[in-house]
Amino acid sequence: MAVDYLIVGAGFSGLVMAERLTTQLGKRCMVIDQRDHVGGNCYDEYDEAGILVHRYGPHYFRTNSDKIIDYLSQFTEWHPVDYQIKSYSDGRLWSFPINLNTFEELIGRPSTSEEMQAWLDQKRVPIENPVNSEEVIISQVGWELYEKFFKGYTRKHWKCDPKDLDVSVCGRIPIRTNRDDRYLKEEFQALPKEGYTRLFERMIEACGDLLEIRLQTSFEEAKESIRFKRLVYTGPIDQYFNYRHGKLPYRSVRFEPESFGPETLKERETISGKRGFWQAEMQINYPNDEDFTRIVEIKHATGQSSDHTTIVREYPEDVGPHQEPYYPIPNQQSQKIYQQYKQLAETEEDTIFTGRLATYRYYNMDQVVAMALKEFERLNS
Ligand code: FAD
Ligand code: UDP
Repeated sequence: MAVDYLIVGAGFSGLVMAERLTTQLGKRCMVIDQRDHVGGNCYDEYDEAGILVHRYGPHYFRTNSDKIIDYLSQFTEWHPVDYQIKSYSDGRLWSFPINLNTFEELIGRPSTSEEMQAWLDQKRVPIENPVNSEEVIISQVGWELYEKFFKGYTRKHWKCDPKDLDVSVCGRIPIRTNRDDRYLKEEFQALPKEGYTRLFERMIEACGDLLEIRLQTSFEEAKESIRFKRLVYTGPIDQYFNYRHGKLPYRSVRFEPESFGPETLKERETISGKRGFWQAEMQINYPNDEDFTRIVEIKHATGQSSDHTTIVREYPEDVGPHQEPYYPIPNQQSQKIYQQYKQLAETEEDTIFTGRLATYRYYNMDQVVAMALKEFERLNS
């Protein structure tokens, strides 16, 4: 029997499409994923220490869109979080992203927003229209803070100079002269109350019998055996076209978890300053001397109560046979290649390309949900 839609990828993009197509149009859908779980990179699970962890790095949900909140709230309640982090540089922790507290730490005495603004005005390099990630930071804070917090982190993570990355990469980090030290800019900041995987399960339940899911199934094998009228593809676009215009560059990450029990956590109290935690904040960035970029202790954000904890160190890596293409690399060269694939995609009949990998965009969760909803509206209009 043929399905109406074959959907490649069970991440946010694929599941939003499946939910809309089944519940709104009564279409018969099959979602396949090469992994052994749904949820794509947003998948979370309880590890052996009993801690709810994000398997593919921390996923801090945030958005400015009421439409996205309303849509997702059908499938989850929310646990509000002010995502707070610190940066470790020159042998000490700093308030980060840069704000008035960071400035006071730098000058070693209390200050004001006005004094900080005057200091920044002196330090910043006058560039009216920044065109890359180095310029966007030095034009706001100057060389000293750029080198302390951005240059090393960015080179380590992306394996290229910030000069060779679009403004959007470092430009997404807020810089403030008040005491707002939340990591993110968006108005709504919260995690799904029972986790992402539970949210995805509820989306799937809503689809009922019209949806079949096949895990550990790649598109390459499925397209030979499954009959379908239309295709929704959320995997890497270059792979879909057999790398005809060359490989698009991606960065990957190796996640190294480590769990601790009550004894170690008791000893760590003097460092974390909080009972039951290994470090002081949910995330500490390591821009300079270490091989990893950040250590995340997600229990701070999920609010889970446990006398154990799990931290995850993130080591940036090249994409390889065992390393997934997590990050599209936003710059002019990669855009040139992507545009060639985009043109091919536009001529592909009865196929929708949506999501972070299929459109090669460094997009957050709310943005890929918005993209999928828009694709659905387009084909429904
Ligand atoms: P994915 O989640 O990548 O899902 C695509 C799915 O397609 C995968 O499961 C994959 O296995 C499957 N697939 C691919 N090719 C094939 C094939 N040929 N056959 C079968 N299956 C295939 N966003 C935020 O909003 N906040 C954050 O804090 C945040 N942190 C992040 C941290 C990291 C380390 C990473 C990598 C991303 C982060 N994101 C964050 C971004 C977020 O992960 C993405 O926006 C979102 O997961 C994209 O959803 P998607 O469905 O488009 O893609
Ligand atoms: N960044 C940096 N120093 C930091 C944090 C971020 O230079 O302490 C830069 C870096 O290039 C990073 C980008 O800003 O890749 C975006 O950071 P974010 O934490 O949003 O990245 P993600 O969570 O997507 O990995």
